Amino acid sequence: MQNVKYLECIKCGKQYPPLPETYTCPECSGLLEVMYDYNLIARQVNRDTFSKSRDYSIWRYLPFLPVNPETPRPSLRVGWSPLYRASALGSALGLDFLFVKDDGINPTASLKDRASVIAVVKAAEAGADTIACSSTGNAASSLAGNAASMGMETYIFVPVRAPQGKVAQLLIFGANVISVQGSYQDAFELSAHAIRKWGWYNRNAAINPYLMEGKKTVSLEVCEQMGWDVPDWVVFSVGDGCTIAGAWKGFVDLYHTGLIGRLPRMIGVQAEGCCPISRAFYTGNPLEPMAENTLADSIAVGVPRNPDKALRAVRYSKGTMVNVSDQEILEAMRLLGNTSGIFGEPAGVAGLAGLKKLVSQGMIGRRDKVVVCITGNGLKDVNNAIKAAGEPIRVSPDLDELERVLKAVRWD
Ligand SMILES: *Cc1c(COP(=O)(O)O)cnc(C)c1O
Ligand SMILES: [Zn+2]
Repeated sequence: MQNVKYLECIKCGKQYPPLPETYTCPECSGLLEVMYDYNLIARQVNRDTFSKSRDYSIWRYLPFLPVNPETPRPSLRVGWSPLYRASALGSALGLDFLFVKDDGINPTASLKDRASVIAVVKAAEAGADTIACSSTGNAASSLAGNAASMGMETYIFVPVRAPQGKVAQLLIFGANVISVQGSYQDAFELSAHAIRKWGWYNRNAAINPYLMEGKKTVSLEVCEQMGWDVPDWVVFSVGDGCTIAGAWKGFVDLYHTGLIGRLPRMIGVQAEGCCPISRAFYTGNPLEPMAENTLADSIAVGVPRNPDKALRAVRYSKGTMVNVSDQEILEAMRLLGNTSGIFGEPAGVAGLAGLKKLVSQGMIGRRDKVVVCITGNGLKDVNNAIKAAGEPIRVSPDLDELERVLKAVRWD
């Protein structure tokens, strides 16, 4: 791992060797960040080496990743999701250059696979055969799936309210699912104690500095897919804050190695009913916890684990944050599906809902180049999709009746 220089604490600045089981700063328990030798990376790769690569997964960016190239990896194909030029959606919003990055196509159907695949590889480097996390949703299912493909065991702590469908996905991937009779916070704390007691590898969000490095590959792909042109704005939905922070890190890494010549502005979107990070962004006050009142469960995070890195990404990039209602999220789900044929879960389309709002407020101009990421697939959460979808046309098996009904509802 010559490409990694050290881990650096974002709070006190202390530096540590990049061991797989170093999670937070031993001095001040601040979060750590992976620091690279950009000169070395710049000597190893350039635009040309990427254009010749036939590895259509996150591993095409191995020189930018904090893993030993010799470590075994899951066979699942994570990353290299399509970046679509979304003309019809752009017209609907009033944008001439809109691109949609569909991360719902990942193996377990969300962007979280980019982080979990790194967790699994780092666990292998640590010599661990068991990984644990607490999550209700996509972090857990992506960990369970990637671990299954490596033959590793997982312990997943879920709060009692975890939706049955999501628990089923975990069980299908062979996870040991521990349903904690309590809140998400209770599940998180029990998992932390168990991880300490039994020495399992820790995939809890924000705790593990390597996970963000997996998430950053989404931005490396965006730049390469745009021919190393850099968008003006990049939009993500925000829960814990790891995704937008990771995406920003990707642009920064490319900038420091000279692969891109400027940086985009980051837009973070939260749900009105649960927006502690955007509230801190607008008030400038320290983060305060908030209730979790939104149907977008993957970003319903009242006590976010990574607000500092998320706020830093938005502020350094001269970006902004915006909140959207559940109604606006459901509308965005329909709009995306109707215009693009892409089906996103509520948190997956919240970014799009926020983008629509900012365009209508005049914050984003018609000629600006914008990338919005769809972070999770709509089939993850069919119950909410049904709310957005409306009703089918009901008829008896009779052509005349069909004609009458169609005339009434469609062809009037
Ligand atoms: C986790 C998740 C997010 C937000 O990522 P954070 O790191 O929690 O900010 C957004 N969309 C989906 C689908 C997710 O699973
Ligand atoms: Zn520190």
